[in-house]
Amino acid sequence: MDRVSHWIGGKVVPGESGRAGPVFDPATGEQTHEVDFASAEEVGIAVEAAREAFPAWRATSLSKRADVMFSLRELVDQHRIDLARILTSQHGKVLSDAAGEVQRGLENIEFATGIPNLLKGDFSEQVSTEVDVYSIRQPLGVVAGITPFNFPAMVPIWMFANAIACGNTFVLKPSEKDPSVSMYLAELLKEAGVPDGVFNVVHGDRLAVDAILEHPDIKAVSFVGSTPIARYIYETGTRNGKRVQALGGAKNHMIVLPDADLDMAADAAVSAGYGSAGERCMAVATVVAVGSIADELVGKIAERLPVVKVGAGNDPESEMGPLITREHRDKVASYLDSGTAQGATIVRDGRKDAVYEGEGFFLGLSLIDHVTTDMDCYRDEIFGPVLGVVRVDTYDEAVGLVNDNPYGNGVAIFTRDGGAARRFQFEVGAGMVGVNVPIPVPVAYYSFGGWKSSLFGDSHMYGPEGVHFYTKGKVVTSRWPDPSTSQVDLGFPRTR
Ligand code: NAD
Repeated sequence: MDRVSHWIGGKVVPGESGRAGPVFDPATGEQTHEVDFASAEEVGIAVEAAREAFPAWRATSLSKRADVMFSLRELVDQHRIDLARILTSQHGKVLSDAAGEVQRGLENIEFATGIPNLLKGDFSEQVSTEVDVYSIRQPLGVVAGITPFNFPAMVPIWMFANAIACGNTFVLKPSEKDPSVSMYLAELLKEAGVPDGVFNVVHGDRLAVDAILEHPDIKAVSFVGSTPIARYIYETGTRNGKRVQALGGAKNHMIVLPDADLDMAADAAVSAGYGSAGERCMAVATVVAVGSIADELVGKIAERLPVVKVGAGNDPESEMGPLITREHRDKVASYLDSGTAQGATIVRDGRKDAVYEGEGFFLGLSLIDHVTTDMDCYRDEIFGPVLGVVRVDTYDEAVGLVNDNPYGNGVAIFTRDGGAARRFQFEVGAGMVGVNVPIPVPVAYYSFGGWKSSLFGDSHMYGPEGVHFYTKGKVVTSRWPDPSTSQVDLGFPRTR
């Protein structure tokens, strides 16, 4: 059984806590690795390595830091297939999807290569006689990232690319379910020229997370994961004086207006509902069919489902892979029973697919119609290949559904009416909006974040808000006086 250990001070450091967890290949159901779980002391060793590396890294020139990001970009590009293979072997998503994840991560590294420009401050000359004012942004120190299983390469990159480029040092606590890709990234960071101690990885569970939240030398925590844990991270981290951005779960709606191109909408619903087996925080979970088109739309979605090839992620034929664990697969499948019991109609039951019977953690594509807002399958984030359809009569009802929902991550509208789409983006309560685009993940030079229970904290992640999160502002008021103008003046500094 291969072992996954920590990465501290530029090398692999075997765990000594005596605690570890299993890592599975979701396509076969077999345990392939054991991952060490860090104790609070081991987290402390990683933080100490990061603390020691900070002064020199912070003093490294912007050009040199940009160079390192350019090298990292090249290395991730060269090794994208290796990264994707590792990712698929522990997460389960199909190889093409894993490669797409690596690509979106790469774009965040590309953004970070622009750090000299991103950290430019403002300068005002002569705000008073011989007085100039300028603003600078400085790194925070040691910062930490705690990441979910569903994007084991991209989400850590969302965080560490900007954090490190800004001059911080970083401690990553990846998901214990698919930990190996972060170790491969650690090696690439080292090869790119990131000095030892600037990037560290500690594996583990709640114990390691609590050690991060309580460590006095960690200045900021970025988190992505489920809403209850995001809330806990935000509350505990801020109580301990840290800057925190904690992105939580989602329940994304895709509204289809009667004038939409229904074939395009059905393609989009299938792609966004079942891609990565629905284990995306930007997955479409609920299709909202407005008006008379509902029967036709459900029919078009249903006819596309049997064609999707479900299988092991490393089979190039597969379009949808397994779920992350057996327990999660069974929980996802249970919504088909609760949906039936609560009055919904099962249009397609993925448990009837042959893949469900195997050893892997598979569930076929499932579709539930006539879902209502009081049902568990509507209220809960299912995070699997179970798409629900809610039928409403009007646009106002559709927007009301989204705005009443406790989550506010992504949302999409499908229509041919530009006026309706514009009204929608004005009224809707969600952080990321798609107009005829089902998964509106912002590009790397914008920032990613939801509203309501999908984000705790003020800053969205990556892009300009990421740079802002990982730096603190300083304003310098400076005077290089002509000595002949010097005098005692007890008044408050004046500008005129
Ligand atoms: P999770 O909340 O179970 O785990 C996330 C991280 O928190 C992991 O590193 C895990 O080890 C740690 N953790 C788990 N339980 C903990 C506890 N009790 N105390 C302290 N730490 C704990 O999430 P997951 O299952 O890995 O990922 C799926 C979730 O992430 C979904 O809810 C999904 O919507 C969400 N997600 C959100 C976004 C976003 O951008 N908003 C992106 C990706 C995933």
